Amino acid sequence: MSRALIVGSVALDTIETPHGKAERAIGGSGSYGCVAASYFTDVSMVGVVGEDFPAEALEKFKNRGIDVSGLQVVEGGKTFHWSGYYERDMGVAHTNTTELNVFESFRPQLSESHRDIPYVFLANIHPALQLDVLDQIRNPKLVVMDTMNFWIGGEKAALTEVIKRSDILLMNDQEVRQYTEKMNLIEGGRELLKLGPRTVVIKKGEHGALVFMEDKMIFFPAFPVDKLKDPTGAGDTFAGGLIGYMARLDDVTGANLTRGVHIGSTMASFVVEGFSFSRMLDIGPGEVKRRADLLHDMCRFPMLEQESLEDIRATVAG
Ligand code: AMP
Repeated sequence: MSRALIVGSVALDTIETPHGKAERAIGGSGSYGCVAASYFTDVSMVGVVGEDFPAEALEKFKNRGIDVSGLQVVEGGKTFHWSGYYERDMGVAHTNTTELNVFESFRPQLSESHRDIPYVFLANIHPALQLDVLDQIRNPKLVVMDTMNFWIGGEKAALTEVIKRSDILLMNDQEVRQYTEKMNLIEGGRELLKLGPRTVVIKKGEHGALVFMEDKMIFFPAFPVDKLKDPTGAGDTFAGGLIGYMARLDDVTGANLTRGVHIGSTMASFVVEGFSFSRMLDIGPGEVKRRADLLHDMCRFPMLEQESLEDIRATVAG
């Protein structure tokens, strides 16, 4: 087993969905990533919060075994605050306000031990900070990155640098369209692949993910959730599950990456069942395994069985 390092926002979120409202609840791309990864490996968090960040939130991270020594607390500072809402289908997050606060002057300083962590997730945050962390990491085995429309719109050049230096790029469908200016996701995915990453994962929310690798494209369904309450953090949780699981295997070859994507999808299905971390921190023993099994079974519809495939081949002319 290896270790994972995650840099991203550690936030207070004010969120409204058709199922309710949360005021200044714990959030942030780094927080969701770390909690998800903590189910599989030792994880270190890099980020910054203000004095207003609740002590019990820090306790929750520590209780999951997360190393928070890389989380700076700025005296007198205010924590990053994001406020947004979702409409009835909850497919798109609409931002009301983004208050960077302590992130405006944050410069990550990685400890010697953090610089040696080989599995890195650059969660959604200012691309300059993602680059800052990349510059300090010594020998990464796998760098996964995420971003959002806010940075594509305002920081495209820096973001492109991060993409070029990452192994796996995660973007949702709208972000791919915004970045590449291509409406067709297949074209967009291929264009992103040309920038350098080995793999591009296009997240399509409840419709799963399209994974582009050099010569192939794989479609992964999302685990169908009937108790969807708040989609915030689904993407970060997906990525945290992926990096945590890859660090656990400590082997990025062969089919392992697809196993990581399977685990990422499984983890994302938990977080959306509650606001903030309510469901993620309440995953019972064996639940991840059971859901991963169920997802696997759901994907194995008979058409994929070799025998049926051969029947089809035999009965289809041409
Ligand atoms: P997700 O739903 O996985 O895309 O991410 C949701 C999280 O992203 C929320 O908890 C927010 O605190 C965080 N977030 C929102 N806007 C930004 C931003 N501009 N930079 C970094 N994190 C953000």
